[in-house]
Amino acid sequence: MSTAHITEPARQTPVLAECDVLVVGAGPAGLAAAVSAAGQGARVLLVERYGFLGGMGTAAAVTNFAGLYGRRSGQMQRLVGGVCTELIDRIDALGGLNEPQDGMAGRIRVLSYDVAAYKCAADQWLTDAGVQVLFHALACAVQVEAGLIQSVVLETRSGRRAVRARQVIDASGDADVAALAGAAYTLGDGQGHMLYPSTMFRIGQVDAPRALAAVGTFGAIDQWMEAAADRYAFARRGAILRPQRNPSQWRANVTQLRNAQGLAVDATDAWQLSEAEMQGRRQIVEYMAFLRNEVPGFEQAEMAEIPAQVGVRETRRVHCRHMLDGEEVITGASFDDRIGLNAWPIESHVDGAIEWRHFQDPDNAFNQLPLRMLMPLEPAPTNLWVVGRCAGMTHSGQSAARASGACFAMGQAAGTAAAMVLSGGSLQVPELQRRLRATGAILD
Ligand SMILES: Cc1cc2nc3c(=O)[nH]c(=O)nc-3n(C[C@H](O)[C@H](O)[C@H](O)COP(=O)(O)OP(=O)(O)OC[C@H]3O[C@@H](n4cnc5c(N)ncnc54)[C@H](O)[C@@H]3O)c2cc1C
Repeated sequence: MSTAHITEPARQTPVLAECDVLVVGAGPAGLAAAVSAAGQGARVLLVERYGFLGGMGTAAAVTNFAGLYGRRSGQMQRLVGGVCTELIDRIDALGGLNEPQDGMAGRIRVLSYDVAAYKCAADQWLTDAGVQVLFHALACAVQVEAGLIQSVVLETRSGRRAVRARQVIDASGDADVAALAGAAYTLGDGQGHMLYPSTMFRIGQVDAPRALAAVGTFGAIDQWMEAAADRYAFARRGAILRPQRNPSQWRANVTQLRNAQGLAVDATDAWQLSEAEMQGRRQIVEYMAFLRNEVPGFEQAEMAEIPAQVGVRETRRVHCRHMLDGEEVITGASFDDRIGLNAWPIESHVDGAIEWRHFQDPDNAFNQLPLRMLMPLEPAPTNLWVVGRCAGMTHSGQSAARASGACFAMGQAAGTAAAMVLSGGSLQVPELQRRLRATGAILD
């Protein structure tokens, strides 16, 4: 008897629900897709493997929206609008939003938030939008017939269940549904190199005035790390250590997770991802010792939160009708079928460091996003959309447009488009663009 495989018996799977648009994954792309499809009158079901919404933003405690702001005509301004504005307003109403923070000599502006407020605001947002949500449901199989996904199979707490859907939006970040449906994809750069993952963490009990004076500006922690480099094992240079709304709490983006070969952990590999969880926590213990011993204001600091999982930046990227490339990002590319903007530069998490490549025109630091990057190539089913960090981007393009701002824009476009296909046959791009603008999306 072979020990390599077992044969599972065939089985009948109960149908749990039927919907017009099924969204798998509740990160920024999935949330915007679900709300937008519902806003167009579709019956929407959003399924999520965890018991809360927000994707990496909450499950990995990213704690920060990047790519919402960028420079246009020399002025720093909001460049991603649309439905995500309501989420941001709701986080603010719960007291969970920081003031925008600038960095890199005014090239970037980010908006940090409290994870708990994000979870609660997203619950309210989707409920009010009429989106049905199923938590603790992992998409694990698809049934494809006649070139269309007929149903998606979920492992739920009630057992294995199917959902019948007319349009499916893969917002899983890892392209789980697209891969199961036979779509072509590339893992990382196709040569075994992905952006390195990181375990985020939040620090409490910081003496705010002294910490702000010592390391309050973006990048100021670097000099403290350099001075202590002979005493602590830092996983990477380019640490990001920033105060939250309440500056007695700070967020730390400082770890970097390697596999046994020293390459970036592959988060689609069960053993590698599992090992990375403990590796991340080991690095956090080391970094906390450094902060307490070496950095003013952190002497009494404590680990306030380590999130549910490793923060995964990149795994599968689905081959789509257009693959957004890094050169198109930094040269500020335009597209006739634009559906939103990316305003985040290329941020490559390479071995031991972050490499930045900024937009060539610092006064107009953004590029357009084409609808075609959300449309998988055949043999993928034709009722499948991919959004967010697994959408149609090259490795270098994804190093920029994986930021939350572009993910919101992609999700809004795919959700709107999926609902339009159901109501009216072929998709007319000018009408899609008109509907996106009508809800505040910024396309130009
Ligand atoms: C450490 C780190 C720091 C970052 N820092 C920033 C930052 O400062 N600012 C910023 O804007 N961006 C940042 N990013 C990038 C950003 O967080 C992600 O690129 C973004 O969240 C991607 O959004 P998404 O909607 O595509 O997918 P994700 O946010 O990854 O969400 C995918 C969702 O799908 C669910 N899911 C996955 N598979 C399944 C399945 N099979 N069935 C059901 N559900 C499933 C997951 O649980 C998750 O909720 C960072 C990322 C990391 C990892």
